[in-house]
Amino acid sequence: MAEELRGVTINLAGRVALVTGATRGIGRAIAETLSTAGARVAVTGRDLTRAETCAREIAQQTGGDVRGYAADVADIGAATALVEAVERDFGQLDILVNNAGVTRDNLLMRLKDDDWDAVINANLRGAFATCRAASRGMMKRRWGRIINIASVVGLTGNKGQANYAASKAGLIGMTKSIAKELASRNILANVVAPGFIETDMTASISAEARQSLSAGIPLARLGAPGDIAGMVAVLASDLTSYVTGQVFVVDGGLVM
Ligand code: NAP
Repeated sequence: MAEELRGVTINLAGRVALVTGATRGIGRAIAETLSTAGARVAVTGRDLTRAETCAREIAQQTGGDVRGYAADVADIGAATALVEAVERDFGQLDILVNNAGVTRDNLLMRLKDDDWDAVINANLRGAFATCRAASRGMMKRRWGRIINIASVVGLTGNKGQANYAASKAGLIGMTKSIAKELASRNILANVVAPGFIETDMTASISAEARQSLSAGIPLARLGAPGDIAGMVAVLASDLTSYVTGQVFVVDGGLVM
């Protein structure tokens, strides 16, 4: 089954994708879309039962080959072993989507060492580990797509999110560097930077705050996980084979 986007077919048949943090929210939508487009997909989270249940549900929905893995990407060894397991089980890894992410918000003065480490390790160090591990096989096969999910906050900064913004800005710098290093091997590395998207991560925003947020967004609504998944699917495909080292902001026009 291939994903139809306004008459253009995205066909990822023969590709294997790994989506970190795919048990819910944006990652799950990305996994569903890549599977619908024909890729075989590995979905991950920190809990094996959750990951396997999610894989089963997506497979039922799309008819694709979807498998669940558990790995806390904040642990560099676990993140590396995750890539190795996916390559061993599927025989290859072509599309890496680093989506797993956490927030631990607080104003600078109140931010604890542990809040800093937890966010940097999950959001940035984990992506470093999976990119490093996945690049070896992609280089051998002369084809690869690395798509790192950052945030508009990595571009603009945000009060109370020094740790989160630093992790996302770091992802952008890392991705541009990787793009330069790996371009000659036909490995493209790009960033998707979401604005406010309706997921568990934004569930605590009050109805009132949600309304005032929407008022500041030109498209006048928070985004849906599928809005991010569509961009990822395009970047994972051969439709965008001349694009690397870029940041694609998907935010309804919030940041221009
Ligand atoms: P979410 O609903 O909170 O889901 C986060 C996902 O990441 C879950 O599947 C969770 O799985 C997994 N995860 C968290 N920590 C992990 C770790 N250490 N190792 C492995 N998996 C881990 O988040 P979301 O809103 O979909 O966000 C997805 C990505 O988009 C994040 O990188 C986030 O920073 C970014 N983003 C989101 C928004 C937004 O408005 N929602 C805006 C900008 C950027 P388990 O709990 O099963 O482990």
